[in-house]
Parts: sequence; structure tokens; C-alpha cells
Amino acid sequence: MARTVVVTGGNRGIGLATAQAFSRQGDRVAVAHRGREFPDGMFGVRCDVRDAASVDAAFDEVEAELGPVEVLVANAGIIDDGPFPQLTEAQFGRVLDTNLTGAFRCASRASHSMLRGGWGRLIFLSSVVGLTGSHSQVNYAASKAGLVGMARSLTRELASRNITANVVAPGPVETEQFAAVPDERRAEFHRAIPAGRFAQPDDVAGVVTWLAGDTASYVSGAIIPVDGGLSMGH
Ligand code: NDP
Repeated sequence: MARTVVVTGGNRGIGLATAQAFSRQGDRVAVAHRGREFPDGMFGVRCDVRDAASVDAAFDEVEAELGPVEVLVANAGIIDDGPFPQLTEAQFGRVLDTNLTGAFRCASRASHSMLRGGWGRLIFLSSVVGLTGSHSQVNYAASKAGLVGMARSLTRELASRNITANVVAPGPVETEQFAAVPDERRAEFHRAIPAGRFAQPDDVAGVVTWLAGDTASYVSGAIIPVDGGLSMGH
């Protein structure tokens, strides 16, 4: 059954691969983006997840064009690394506001139509580092760990309404975000990954589309690692 899907930060990287995977399987997909590098051939809406009014307007537009939102992929995310304690409160706040509060804003707005329709899928892009911690990423790891508490609390509140909330926790994925990681750290990750390779965005997209499908209807509050064995299931 075709669904209406919103992917935040869907214009590049994991978000784009995910939007394309939903599109290929016949879903109605809205790519929520900030106006940069928007891919041809997709339905796009402007959306800055740091701004509640922008999120509201984007969902209004999607609902008018594609119908009630049934699947949210809260994928938009940033890094702003720095060693502790030099990491500033501004850096901490910026990353939390985008990665965690941004996901909350979108989930909150998306839940309106899901509750009305009696069906929904909330999927949050976390990271292995939200579970293991990571040097110079106190802000990023905290934001990604926060998504776990959020998805699990949403599960407690919404599972009986046929709305699941899950977390996908990738290891390193070959995107622009990972390209910014220093070579030495990349090599360290590479040695630690049993699969012997970094993920491609499609590796993550396949798991996200599965979570959104009917065969995953009894999976909620889960953390699904997509990391080639890096975290051994954490
Ligand atoms: P990219 O840096 O390639 O893309 C990030 C996306 O998020 C872009 O579309 C960007 O938009 C969007 N975005 C950033 N801030 C906002 C905002 N305020 N409002 C709306 N959109 C925004 O990241 P990846 O594809 O690599 O990562 C996607 C998600 O997966 C992120 O949450 C990331 O933390 C997570 N992840 C990534 C891993 C990796 O190794 N790559 C590993 C584990 C998790 P714009 O183009 O306008 O900047």
C-alpha cells in the first residue's frame, strides 16, 4: 500500500537515498529541504527543522499535495565537533536544536495525521555514537542518545494507536558528513568494522523502508544498528 512519507534533510546523503528508495517502491514522498542542492524529479518542500513555523508550513504543504503524512523519517542532522571542555554551550545547543529538538518538532507535527488516521511510522536517524559515545562529540552523541529516549517514550504513548517509533543507528556511512572525519579516525573506524567496509546510504535506506512497511508493524522502541557489526548490536 502506497504511503505518504516525509524525509527531513532528504536532499542529499542518507536522506536522499531513503527518499529515492520510498519513491522506487511507489510511495508518495516529500523531500523536506533547506533549499540547497535539491534533486530533480522529487517533490520538495522547504523545511528548516530548527523552526517550528517552517516545520508546520512544510507539513501543511505536504498534506495539501500528497495527503496525510503516514511516515516520518527524521533524518536532518549536523555535527559541530570539539574536544571537551572547549566545546561551547552554543555548539552544544545548535546540535541539540537540530538533531533532537528538530526531530521532536517534526514528530509532534507528523503525529497529528497519524493519530487521526490510526496508523503511523516514526523513524529517527541516530548513530552508533549515541550509544557508545565519541571523542569530541559530546553534543552530537547526546543528541543521538536523546532520540532513543524519545522513540521509546513515544512507543509507550503511541504503540496502542498503531504508531511505531524506532531508531536506526548507523555506523560510518559514506556521505558528506563522514567525509569531514579526519583520515586517522576513518582508518580507526575501518579497522573496527567486522564487515570491512563503510556503509553506503542505500544500506541505511533499506532498513528505514523496512521499518516503515507493514511487515515491521510489531517493531517499536527498537534501536536497529546498521554498522557492519561495529557495535555488535548496541
Ligand atoms: P549529510 O551531512 O550528508 O546531510 C545532512 C542533511 O540534513 C542535509 O540534507 C542537510 O540539509 C540536512 N539538515 C541539516 N540541518 C538541517 C535543518 N536545520 N533543517 C533541515 N535540514 C537540515 O548527512 P548524512 O546523510 O550523512 O546523515 C543523515 C543523518 O544520519 C544525520 O542525522 C546524521 O547525523 C546521521 N548519521 C550519519 C552517519 C554518517 O556516517 N554519515 C552515521 C550515523 C548517523 P542541507 O543540504 O541544507 O545542509
